[in-house]
Amino acid sequence: METNKPDIRQLTEEALSAFFKEHGEQAFRGRQVYEWLWKKGSTSFEEMSNLSKETRKFLSENFSIPRLNIHSKQTSRDGTIKFTFKTHDGHLTESVLIPSGSRITACVSSQVGCKLNCTFCATGKIPFKRNLSQAEIFDQILTVKNKANKLYNLSLSNIVYMGMGEPLLNYGDVKASIKLIASEKSLGFSPRRVTLSTIGLPEKIKKLADDQITFNLAVSLHSAMDETRTRLIPINKQYNLESLKKALEYFNKNTGKRITFEYLMINGINDSIAEAKALAEYCKNFPVKINLIEYNTTGDPAFQKPDPQKLNEFKVFLESKNLVVNVRRSRGDDIDAACGQLSGRIK
Ligand code: SF4
Repeated sequence: METNKPDIRQLTEEALSAFFKEHGEQAFRGRQVYEWLWKKGSTSFEEMSNLSKETRKFLSENFSIPRLNIHSKQTSRDGTIKFTFKTHDGHLTESVLIPSGSRITACVSSQVGCKLNCTFCATGKIPFKRNLSQAEIFDQILTVKNKANKLYNLSLSNIVYMGMGEPLLNYGDVKASIKLIASEKSLGFSPRRVTLSTIGLPEKIKKLADDQITFNLAVSLHSAMDETRTRLIPINKQYNLESLKKALEYFNKNTGKRITFEYLMINGINDSIAEAKALAEYCKNFPVKINLIEYNTTGDPAFQKPDPQKLNEFKVFLESKNLVVNVRRSRGDDIDAACGQLSGRIK
């Protein structure tokens, strides 16, 4: 619901303390409110039970807490759950809870829609509306975390920024959200268990290196041949594989971090041995881990699941070059929650 009152979650802890001081209250109220908002995920001032009734009323007269609301929820036969959220201004965005043995991964969105129009991706087909705020990213994570606890009695183990949108085109809020959830005044979630997955924007990757990030970087490569990659990822025309490689070398040199390559295997497009050779060559200058992911159909007949035998041959070839390769089966494909399938189809 739209409201004219300012969003209290735009205020830092220091700004909250200053607000209380200005209004004749003790500054430590700022810390209390901050923890209600970011540790407990309060949805209303009423819940803030260690504040007086008057203070709660005063806060609700001055501020709002516009949160993401669960619009719908779908559960896959494999236990994966897709949440569709509605923003305060009426947009839809999605997150996925992926259980795997004793691990629970949250896949979160960074934007409503996406500007980059990757041809294989359902999100790319819906118009870009806006970036999600730090608070809206936090809401997704907290929702998945609480559901994991409630439904599976498990703590959240990993977070991947791999839902709707290109996280590096929402650099400030994405980075701020990771810093926030890492804070002991919030969820205390280790950045080492967070992965940002990007289509590969060289300038922003260099910025991540300059900013000395402590979370992990995954790049959706999908082909190490420019012609194929541009067909799948049009922005590759502007930022080709060579410029991406230079940025990744810089990233590795400055952070010492290994890079994960996500490689969606799509039948007849990027699954040949020639593609595998190009990929092996591309991986020569920095340490990588390669995740081969079976493509999930999104209704476009041009893109189909790979032949299992070809997928295996591709994997064996890469392993023969001493590369670390995992084959990932996409989860939640029956509810359009798998890689490349998030599209806000629920209206
Ligand atoms: S793959 Fe990522 S960058 Fe490309 S259109 Fe989909 S969400 Fe956007």
